Amino acid sequence: MSEIIRTDVVIIGAGPVGLFAVFELGLYDLKCHLIDILDRPGGQCAELYPEKPIYDIPAWPEISGQALVDRLMEQIKPFSPQFHLNRMVTKLERQADGSFRVETDEGEIFETKVVVIAAGGGSFQPKRPPVPGIEAYEGTSVFYSVRRMEAFRDQDVMIVGGGDSALDWALNLQPVVRTLTLVHRRAEFRAAPDSVKKMFELVDSGGIRFELGQVTGLKGENGSLAGVTLKSSDGEKELPATRMLPFFGLTMKLGPVADWGLNLHENLIPVDTEKFETSEPGIFAIGDINWYPGKLKLILSGFHEAALMTQAAKRIVNPGERIVFQYTTSSTSLQKKLGVQ
Ligand code: FAD
Repeated sequence: MSEIIRTDVVIIGAGPVGLFAVFELGLYDLKCHLIDILDRPGGQCAELYPEKPIYDIPAWPEISGQALVDRLMEQIKPFSPQFHLNRMVTKLERQADGSFRVETDEGEIFETKVVVIAAGGGSFQPKRPPVPGIEAYEGTSVFYSVRRMEAFRDQDVMIVGGGDSALDWALNLQPVVRTLTLVHRRAEFRAAPDSVKKMFELVDSGGIRFELGQVTGLKGENGSLAGVTLKSSDGEKELPATRMLPFFGLTMKLGPVADWGLNLHENLIPVDTEKFETSEPGIFAIGDINWYPGKLKLILSGFHEAALMTQAAKRIVNPGERIVFQYTTSSTSLQKKLGVQ
């Protein structure tokens, strides 16, 4: 049996909100372990839109998804959070003494006084298009997100889909790639009208090839894509493609979160707006995973929720201890914790 890891707080989910929770909890001397299914911190920002600019993070007029994650990682460094990546939390149970036992699919066991669920939409997986044999190309030629635009430089790229992700990436990658083909099964797009307009301008100037139809087959060897079979109303044809990016949306699966005995509201976890506590005392839910009247799924809402949750978490971990509200600008004790004194 693996060694039990004992801590003040286990945070399930290392998205932007889970990361900022480390900061708020750290100011109150609460030690955190973070667990995430993904192979790196950052949640949706790092996985779905690392290079896209965000414009509504306070005091950052523009910051990319990955840069925001990098800044958060820098900000929480003084608190030395422990990351357990590539692991899914599978079990969450209350123990006789009121604390919690958390288990991962890698067999790790945590004992903690407080659990913070910052699991976003749960475990998210891209929807795979129904193309026979596509699995053999995934991770080498077929990708469901763009982590680095450079990986697509001078490639024959085919983007499939008609939503915002498909159009945004068609516009962003077009200057970098050798050829760009956009495939959509309808002439109507769900993406922002401005993106659709820009895309058709590029089609007119020869920068993008637009094909109406559906991908029905892939050609290549050893995971290396060479071409694609496209079926349209005119019949079937072969098109060159060395990289394919299908954007068919994501399935946000609540996964094991649904089995933890918490009350749910349309697959989200209802919380109060004073402490962001769930129906189980000591289990908090912050960020996109929670629900309360007026909830907005914005990063800044999650940051606020993390600050208020911390006050309640501190009372559970150190009952009876007086909580002194302090500003980081003027408190020498907080500045010592941050290593700036
Ligand atoms: P997430 O970022 O979803 O992170 C949750 C993490 O929990 C994930 O890493 C997941 O792997 C992990 N997890 C889930 N279940 C488990 C489990 N059982 N075990 C282990 N790990 C688990 N918001 C803005 O404020 N401004 C914007 O401009 C903006 N633009 C966006 C653009 C796009 C394309 C998208 C998709 C979203 C955008 N958002 C924006 C929304 C923003 O990204 C989310 O509000 C934010 O990511 C929520 O953060 P979170 O930490 O709550 O969850």
